[in-house]
Amino acid sequence: MTHSRRSFLGGLAVAGAAGCARPAERAPRSRASVPPSEPVIGGPPDPIPVLREKTGLRIASLETFTRGHVSIVRLTTDDGSEGWGQISTYDADISATVLHRKVAGHFIGRDPADLSDIVDRCIEANYKYPWSFVCRALTGAETAAWDLLGKRAGKPVCELIGGAAKPIPAYGSSMSREITPEDEAARLVRLRDEKGYRAFKVRVGKVNGRDEDQWPGRTETLVPAIRQAVGEGVSLKADGNSCYTPPKAIEVGRLLEEHGYDHFEEPCPYWELEWTTQVAAALDVDVAGGEQDNDLAQWRRMIALPAVDIVQPDVCYMGGLLRTLRVARMAEKAGMPCVPHSANLAMVTVFSLHLLAAIPNAGPFLEYSIEDTPWTEGLFDPALRVVDGDVPMSTEPGWGVRVSPAWLDAAETQRSGV
Ligand SMILES: [Mg+2]
Repeated sequence: MTHSRRSFLGGLAVAGAAGCARPAERAPRSRASVPPSEPVIGGPPDPIPVLREKTGLRIASLETFTRGHVSIVRLTTDDGSEGWGQISTYDADISATVLHRKVAGHFIGRDPADLSDIVDRCIEANYKYPWSFVCRALTGAETAAWDLLGKRAGKPVCELIGGAAKPIPAYGSSMSREITPEDEAARLVRLRDEKGYRAFKVRVGKVNGRDEDQWPGRTETLVPAIRQAVGEGVSLKADGNSCYTPPKAIEVGRLLEEHGYDHFEEPCPYWELEWTTQVAAALDVDVAGGEQDNDLAQWRRMIALPAVDIVQPDVCYMGGLLRTLRVARMAEKAGMPCVPHSANLAMVTVFSLHLLAAIPNAGPFLEYSIEDTPWTEGLFDPALRVVDGDVPMSTEPGWGVRVSPAWLDAAETQRSGV
């Protein structure tokens, strides 16, 4: 038996247009159906047709173009074909070094259609350096390989993994805790009216806050003020960013329930899986999490407990699209929606669009940052935008975007291969 989440169903209603943010009765939670012994690395082949047929090409080089928070990757095969991807943002210079030192050797000389095996071998080979920077770097090469495979097939990446390009409903995601409840309410109302958003997320508590608020009383004022300002027809989500111990998380969760919020994200320090499990079991509001998690076995445990009701893998923290798809598939088996984490408007949001256009358990919302980030502006064309609450997708092959030549010209470059 699966546990289809009530916010999943409610969210679909809101995403569809005239729905109400307060969904019907939730189904009871039950244990996930992911067998604990199912291998997550080196397991059965990924069920993706384009990865079953060799291209006959060999990956010749990987180049990084690094500038500020961003590092773009160009993968070139021995026939001169190219694909473009991106390393996870922030400390991109460190990740670019990791790509050339710890990742590139697993790609050079291989057929791009061997991507599952390349990715798994890379993770295994780096078992002394697990996760964060290896996965951030791996994402750059992996996403560049997907772009190349899409361009060869003449299809958007989402089609290669079983979907189709379409407008994806977005939730406007606030990244700010410095903003007052009054100012936050005013800007969300403006965005609702100007861009047509049907969902938003706000920040409660304080990052790793040990039960403290950003300032005393902010959360208790913010939660009702936002609901009152945007009205009943808007889906609301709140992010705790690892703030609370279970008793305080449950108290804040009750406040969210009282005001019809449908998603309580990362209520406890994310590494305290048992705390999060306890909170999810106590609350009616769905608990979301997993943006920091990039170990597939840890994901399997989170889903099996279940520690969360909604999974939030970040394509760029995970090590790319394939590993994120594996999380989405585990969640699908357990009846959980997947709402990928995409907290800035660089390529991670493009990758998330393609993921959401392809998976049956799409959240359904795309996380779409509402903050001004000059460092993502002009990075690629066509630029991301929100129209009537949806983000349109390019139907061009690969990721469907072209990295700005001027941006690349100003970047620092490194190369592996020939
Ligand atoms: Mg978050």
